[in-house]
Amino acid sequence: MPDEKLFYEDPTLERIETEVIETGDEGGRPWARLERTIFHPEGGGQPADWGALGDVPVVNVQEREGRVLHFVNSPVAVGPVVACLDAGRRFDLSQQHTAQHLLTAVLLERHGLPTTAFHLGESYAAIEVDGKVPDPEALAGFEDEVNAIVREARTVRTLWIEPGQMKALGVRSRMLPEGHTGKVRIVEIEGVDINTCGGTHVQNLSEIQMIHIFHAEPARGGARIHFLAGGRILSRLGKADALEAALKDRLGTSPMDFARVVDGWLTERRRLKKRVKRLEDENAEHIARELALTDGDRIEKTIQGAGPDMLRSLAKAVLELRPEAVVSLVGEAEVTCFIVQSGPAGPQDVSDVGEALRDRLKARGGGKGRTFQGRT
Ligand SMILES: [Zn+2]
Repeated sequence: MPDEKLFYEDPTLERIETEVIETGDEGGRPWARLERTIFHPEGGGQPADWGALGDVPVVNVQEREGRVLHFVNSPVAVGPVVACLDAGRRFDLSQQHTAQHLLTAVLLERHGLPTTAFHLGESYAAIEVDGKVPDPEALAGFEDEVNAIVREARTVRTLWIEPGQMKALGVRSRMLPEGHTGKVRIVEIEGVDINTCGGTHVQNLSEIQMIHIFHAEPARGGARIHFLAGGRILSRLGKADALEAALKDRLGTSPMDFARVVDGWLTERRRLKKRVKRLEDENAEHIARELALTDGDRIEKTIQGAGPDMLRSLAKAVLELRPEAVVSLVGEAEVTCFIVQSGPAGPQDVSDVGEALRDRLKARGGGKGRTFQGRT
């Protein structure tokens, strides 16, 4: 006999007095089984409910062959206990889940798009449908359609029927888990959809408040459509408002002008980048000419602000003027980099000089033959 799940009949129960009838642990995580539970275990695409047994947090709920295991932060004792649900989390998941039923029904009935998968996470809800990825205009159309039905405030109810009754009732998905026996739980959105489901739902579509469909992308040969319902829309809007205020504060313009301001910056950035490159090239030529005047065949220099690219082009330029020399250059920018290189008329191997410089700089690096380079 599977453990009794009260949320099947009454999803509004948030707190009950019950009994811990068995305890144990799984991989070091303690669990408790209850005589009757209000916690929905993870399954059917819906995450587990959270809450508490007494004052011990319930952080996960899993079903194992009909036994509902409530994973708790610390072991609880067998005997009477008050079980309390994280009702905010339950309501959020119920809003998203019921929104999914409605969206799935509308896409199938009105657009011939069957749902092939459903994802419901803490911050992410999506369905996958057959066919090509709908464009933004189509998504806006779907959104209007489902919201019109949300405004009709239809009743959502659950009932238990015999498997043989499903066809006559027009149940949308008639797939049953392997080995299923006995009655089947049906969730009906009055006049819109009848479907088998073991999850939790709101009791009236008005509790969904609103559905926002905001993105679609290719997925497994079909399309994944992302949506939000109810509280998640307000939460996202709150974050968007905060972001808008932060940008307004920094850019000093109205949100309508954000894109124009950033475009202007990008253009200016490209112009400055070209100018910096030109000045660096001129500077490198100048430095190379000066370095080439150094007495002896060992030329050494530390250049502030130089990166590996600049060091390489500088070494090349110096060695074109002084092919018999060995050049050791160190660049000091965000990191320190170095290069040791000899010209075609210089020594064939500079690894001794390179290793000494690398160790002195406490850098990493290596090389063979005429080039040795690295960085801190
Ligand atoms: Zn459901």
